[in-house]
Amino acid sequence: MIESTMMDEQLVIKKIVDHAQRLYGAVEIVSRLPDPTMYHRYTVRDMIGRAYVLAEALQKLGIKPGDRVGTMMWNHYGHLEAYFGIPLSGGVLHTINIRLHADEIVYIVNHAEDRFLIVDDVLLPLIEPLRERLKVEAIIVFPYQGSTLLQEPYVSYERLLDTADGHYQEPHWDEVAPLGMCYTSGTTGRPKGVVYSHRAIVLHALVSALPGALDVSDRDTVTPVVPMFHVNAWGLPFSMTLLGAKQVYPGPHLSPERLLELYESERVTVTAGVPTIWLGILQIIDRYPDRYRLPNMRMIVGGAAAPEGLIRGLDRHGHRVIHAWGMTETAPLGTVSQIKQVLSHHSEDELYQLRSKQGYPVPLIDVRIRGPEGILPWDGKSMGELEIRGPWVTKSYFKQDETEALSTDGWFRTGDVATIDAEGYVKITDRIKDLIKSGGEWISSVDLENALMSHPGVLEAAVIAVPHEKWGERPLAVVVKKDGAALTEATLKDFLGERFAKWWLPDAYVFVESIPRTASGKFLKTALRETYKNWYGQ
Ligand code: AMP
Repeated sequence: MIESTMMDEQLVIKKIVDHAQRLYGAVEIVSRLPDPTMYHRYTVRDMIGRAYVLAEALQKLGIKPGDRVGTMMWNHYGHLEAYFGIPLSGGVLHTINIRLHADEIVYIVNHAEDRFLIVDDVLLPLIEPLRERLKVEAIIVFPYQGSTLLQEPYVSYERLLDTADGHYQEPHWDEVAPLGMCYTSGTTGRPKGVVYSHRAIVLHALVSALPGALDVSDRDTVTPVVPMFHVNAWGLPFSMTLLGAKQVYPGPHLSPERLLELYESERVTVTAGVPTIWLGILQIIDRYPDRYRLPNMRMIVGGAAAPEGLIRGLDRHGHRVIHAWGMTETAPLGTVSQIKQVLSHHSEDELYQLRSKQGYPVPLIDVRIRGPEGILPWDGKSMGELEIRGPWVTKSYFKQDETEALSTDGWFRTGDVATIDAEGYVKITDRIKDLIKSGGEWISSVDLENALMSHPGVLEAAVIAVPHEKWGERPLAVVVKKDGAALTEATLKDFLGERFAKWWLPDAYVFVESIPRTASGKFLKTALRETYKNWYGQ
């Protein structure tokens, strides 16, 4: 046995930072401010400089390797400083989804044992009511809209940075150490934490940027619309920084008109988000094709299925959809639906069908499907649970043991049902659990059902996903009243409104005599979905 002669280089955040600083220091980073007419502009060099200052300031606060720092921020330069500054300090970047219900935010922060939080000043109205319940040592406020007058116990981000005096201590780098974490909201019960290693993030940044994947380089100007609190904005802040793409962040301004203005003024070439965003944009550019002078863009669509009509529609305007699939548990990129060169001779219709599939696994990722009898063939017809392996796929959840997430032979069970064709293209056909995905975010039907069924007037309730033009899917509740109960839609709405975020609430309540059941006594949701599929006007 001989040994390799290669250097033992650790794949850690420092590699991304050093490369970016040396090669792309002058590249611009643009952020839209809370006032949408205002922009913040600086360079990669400025960003990295401030990230190091943040790292040192966190060290002065006493951060130790592996300590979690939560962020509750929009997509902008301040969040980017946290993306790099927290890991450079040795800490773990824990991005928190600000759209979750207050109770879930409290649970996540405390479960992750975040020592510090960095939050946008504009989000203080959301944070203040929770403050007492958050077990953190300090809440650091980023002056996104320029707020400087802060009441105790909040800490000013800029004042914190002022405590640094050039004594940054490089942590001991270890590529398998944690860099970041993110909680899923995709399952019944409590959200679960996924912890990303340095190695996972570096490899993901490289592979996701490949031409056959998301195709990002220094020739591009990239706008992640997908929130930086949703699986690291699909890793784009890391890949853009590593590869020198110009970065353009939309802040909280996510309406189609605001995004179109941004694309036009910054000459954006790549943008990424959930289908709901692109459906809104397509509607406007279809109606007013001459209003915006847009560059030809590549639009990365993921988080939910990209309908074929959307891909065709954006093509008509000269944009190219890159359809991708992934999960919080896969950091997130798993598959990408680009057309392999060997398939380019197929008919136009066939190519559109292919592009509306979720696509082939990117390099270093393995996929397979499993039915009740075992592993299924790649024939485009056999349907089973999608399982995945790879260097950026989780093998467990934070504070849980491995058996929950993995098959007996070590593959991650996605909970998605799929086919894989002979060319390696995955098509997601269903979800094993009947979750509802609204505007790119999950809503748990079971949680809503359980709450509804705790109302004294409700006998039974099933909540299903119903297709919705704007949001992809919206919940609909099918309810059986208890005998003699005087129950109205408004009562149930108020009842759920006390327990869930507003966007979780069903858009409609249908009162029925009984709910169909499967042989094993479970709600037959497939039948319900079929009955109510046109309820929201599709
Ligand atoms: P999340 O962890 O919140 O990103 O949600 C991951 C889930 O979103 C996956 O398990 C899929 O069910 C769904 N998903 C993501 N991308 C796609 C896609 N392109 N098509 C269909 N479903 C998708």
